[in-house]
Amino acid sequence: MIQVKNLTVRYPDMKTEALADVSLSLEKGDFVCVLGKSGAGKSTFIRCLNGLQKPTGGEIHFDGQDISFHNEEQLRKVRRQTGMIFQHFSLIPRLSVMQNVLTGMFGYRSSFKNLIGWFTAEELALAKKVIEDVGLSEMAYRKVEQLSGGQKQRVGIARALAQQPKVLLGDEPVASLDPGTSNHIFTLLTEMHERLNLLTIINVHDIELAKRYATRILALKDGKLIFDGPPEKFSDSQ
Ligand code: ADP
Ligand code: ADP
Repeated sequence: MIQVKNLTVRYPDMKTEALADVSLSLEKGDFVCVLGKSGAGKSTFIRCLNGLQKPTGGEIHFDGQDISFHNEEQLRKVRRQTGMIFQHFSLIPRLSVMQNVLTGMFGYRSSFKNLIGWFTAEELALAKKVIEDVGLSEMAYRKVEQLSGGQKQRVGIARALAQQPKVLLGDEPVASLDPGTSNHIFTLLTEMHERLNLLTIINVHDIELAKRYATRILALKDGKLIFDGPPEKFSDSQ
C-alpha cells in the first residue's frame, strides 16, 4: 500500500540526515510501531508518509502513485486518506467532542460550516458512529477541555476515523498519557485496525508498548532503519 524507497530527509541547517536511505513496504495488515530515541527521525518519517514533509531524496508511493512530486492539491487528497493523531491531541478545546469530530470530516477550512452546524443527516450519523466506536457516546456534547487526557486522545482517534482513512498515523499519541491510559488507547487502536482493516503506523518511545501491540516494529537510529521485523525478534539492545 505504501512503498518507501531510499527515503532521505536533510533539513536545511543540518549536517547529518534526519532520515537516511530508508526503504520498506507497508501493507494493510500491518500494525506498525516505530521505535527510536528522541531525534531518531520518527516524527520526520510519519510526516513524510502523509506529505507534510517533502523528502530531499528517494520516493514514497501511495497506492502505486509517487507522491514525491505531488502538488498541494494532490497532497491534500493523500492527506484525506490519512488520519493523523498527535501527542498533544490538536483538538479545539472549547468545542464539543462532536464539533471536533466534524472538523475532521471537513478540514479546518470549513470550520464555519462546523460552527453553524450545517450538516447532513448522513454526516452526523457518521460522526455519532465514530464517537460510539471510541467509547465516548455519553460525552458527545461535552466540551473537549472538560475531558481527561485519555478521553481527549479518544476524540483525536474519532476525528481521524471520521475521515474514513485508509491509513492511520500517530506521532507519539500516548507520550503524554499514564501507562494505564496508554494501554487503553493502544487496545482501541488495535480494535480499529482489525475492524476497519486500517494500515496503522504509530511512533512510540516505550518499547514494551510496541512489543505488546505491534505486528511489526521499525526501529530508527540517527535516521537509519536498524530493525524491521516482528516484535518477538526485536531485542532492546538495538
Ligand atoms: P524523533 O521524532 O525521533 O524525535 P525527529 O524526526 O523529530 O525525531 O528529528 C530527527 C532529527 O531532525 C533531529 O536531529 C531533529 O533535531 C531534526 N529536525 C527535526 N525537525 C527539524 C526541523 N524542522 N528543522 C531542522 N531540524 C529538524
Ligand atoms: P482516562 O483514564 O484518562 O479517563 P481512558 O482511555 O482510560 O482515559 O478511558 C476513557 C473513557 O473510556 C473512560 O470513561 C473509560 O471508562 C472508557 N473506556 C476505557 N476503555 C474502554 C474500552 N476498551 N472501550 C470502551 N470504553 C472504554
